[in-house]
Amino acid sequence: KKGLSFLLLFVLVISLSGCNLAETEGSDSKGYVGISMPTKSSARWVADGQNMVKLFEEKGFKTDMQYAEDVVENQIAQIENMITKGVDVIVIASVDGNTLTDVIKKAHDEGIQVIAYDRLIRNTEYLSYYATFDNFQVGVLQASYIEQKLGLKEGKGPFNIELFGGSPDDNNAYFFFDGAMSVLQPYIDSGKLVVRSKQTTMSQIATLRWDGAEAQKRMDNLISAHYSGEEIDAVLSPYDGISLGIISSLRGVGYGSETKPLPIITGQDAELSSIKSIVNGEQTQTIFKDTRKLAERTVGMAESVLSGTEAEVNDTESYDNGKGIVPSYLLEPVSIDATNVEEEIIGSGYYTREEVGLK
Ligand code: BGC
Repeated sequence: KKGLSFLLLFVLVISLSGCNLAETEGSDSKGYVGISMPTKSSARWVADGQNMVKLFEEKGFKTDMQYAEDVVENQIAQIENMITKGVDVIVIASVDGNTLTDVIKKAHDEGIQVIAYDRLIRNTEYLSYYATFDNFQVGVLQASYIEQKLGLKEGKGPFNIELFGGSPDDNNAYFFFDGAMSVLQPYIDSGKLVVRSKQTTMSQIATLRWDGAEAQKRMDNLISAHYSGEEIDAVLSPYDGISLGIISSLRGVGYGSETKPLPIITGQDAELSSIKSIVNGEQTQTIFKDTRKLAERTVGMAESVLSGTEAEVNDTESYDNGKGIVPSYLLEPVSIDATNVEEEIIGSGYYTREEVGLK
């Protein structure tokens, strides 16, 4: 009798563990996805990560998401860890797009597919796809806003402008800059826009790791060296965190009063603090890149690579990463100022009226 109950117990244990196994297999039967993000210090990347995890999990994928806090070595170690854990695909928004060649080769050798998210990864032939926004167009929208607000097309001017660039290790930064200069350069050449610092090349205006504090310091220096007795009419800023640093600097020398209004200041990402700043009449413009749409596109790409089908792309010529063209999907960025926050940002449910401080 004892023997029989042992046998029954044995059968029970085996069948239960079998069930468990099937359950785990079932829950990640669609695949295991590594998500490597650059930093939590900027709200957009937090939103990007959350959106992706949510979508992947809704579709039955298992995820492992890591933030590198803008340290290249962290990102490499985190990706290595994902490879060890046996993920099937890795989505990467790089800290420095030039540093991942070896670790991506390792992923490839293990049969893991890699998708570049928002930022292109350079010098690797092992990228399956690149999902991003039209980065050149971002720069065009920022500069066209300045052009329109200053009335440059109508022949107004000359105006003083200073230029800020993004991080020199981020491929996107050059696209933003090139897009902006495609609009601004003719006015600089004709003297309708004057860059008093004469700093107009990417290497002169770049901001390492998109650091707002560094931008603030540079703006302080520009003001004291070139603007005693002269006012600044516009600042090209590539990213909201940089725009807020520039605004602090300008406020420090008295801009933002009735007699000395802030210049036109662009931005990017529609981060909550900048949307509030726009609503309050400080930052003038930003670029809305709906991270929900980018996440959706990327999840679709991951599903395609895992099922062995081709993902939809809409650009096969713009993004050469040094080893070849990476098939890309570019989403449309949208220019935002005080006049369309309501329609684009609140209307699309990106933030609520309460969050942005609108009544
Ligand atoms: C992204 C921008 C962002 C910047 C700073 C770029 O790669 O495309 O949306 O403003 O990084 O995080």
